[in-house]
Amino acid sequence: MRGAIYGALVGDALGVPVEFTTREQRDINPVVSMRGFGTWQQPPGTWSDDGALLLCSAEALLDGYSPARMADGFVRWISKGHWSAHGEVFDIGNGTRTAIRRLAGSIEPEQAGGADQNDNGNGSLMRILPVALRFADRPAATVAEVAARASRLTHAHPRSSLACAIYCVVAARLLDGAQPNDAIRQTATFIRNWSGTPVAELAHFDRALNPELGALPCHEIASGGYVVETLEAALWCLLTTTNYQQAVLAAVNLGADTDTTGCVAGGLAGILYGERAIPLQWGSQLPRQEELGQLVTRFVAQCINNGSAS
Ligand SMILES: [Mg+2]
Repeated sequence: MRGAIYGALVGDALGVPVEFTTREQRDINPVVSMRGFGTWQQPPGTWSDDGALLLCSAEALLDGYSPARMADGFVRWISKGHWSAHGEVFDIGNGTRTAIRRLAGSIEPEQAGGADQNDNGNGSLMRILPVALRFADRPAATVAEVAARASRLTHAHPRSSLACAIYCVVAARLLDGAQPNDAIRQTATFIRNWSGTPVAELAHFDRALNPELGALPCHEIASGGYVVETLEAALWCLLTTTNYQQAVLAAVNLGADTDTTGCVAGGLAGILYGERAIPLQWGSQLPRQEELGQLVTRFVAQCINNGSAS
């Protein structure tokens, strides 16, 4: 669980300096270690909106899932830089910005996200992992349901919710010790039978729900901001590499939405290989080490000891 959170933050931070660069640029000059500056002129180790909202989510989930508490954390991030790396918001997706503005009003949190087919950016997927950790000891249906609901705060289309459900069930299977191909196979069986699955959306996940995804060549894998692309890219990185470093560097070197692909892949790789597999020279560059460590320790303790609280 610790590896999940640190793995996601490090993956995000590896991608921040090269966000929006092309795969051709990454082929010529691949990211091989923690860099700084570049796209956002941030020091090395800086996580972006992905990491900040993931940490806000973990904090909100300490005492179980409360949409209002999660909404409150997101609003504090956008207005006060809560859980941002250096106290300021420097990168934010359009869907997330619009939804958090609505969350600041009196709307029901789970109605705040955009629900149009064009609202399926990866902004809920990038922050959803704490749900998988918090409910890992529960049935897959609970993990999937909470993930789908928590997506709706910023991304309320059924496709985004299903992507979050799939990702969190895969993460829960990995936490349980499954290898990536088995985790995907088991998740596919679950999702195809789950009563909460929006059946009309299933066809969009044919590739993500098949471990043969790992046999596809790199040029078949897109890495833009579309939620289905990000899910596929993260799973592809997990299936085609054999350690944490390879998995996150593969993700970042796909180019385009590098921070989010790195974050989403890094969370899963952190589970699979564990916290100790994350290079110290990368993890040690994350800012706010003390507060971060306290939150992670508190959150993981709740996940393990108090999993039965709702
Ligand atoms: Mg970002």
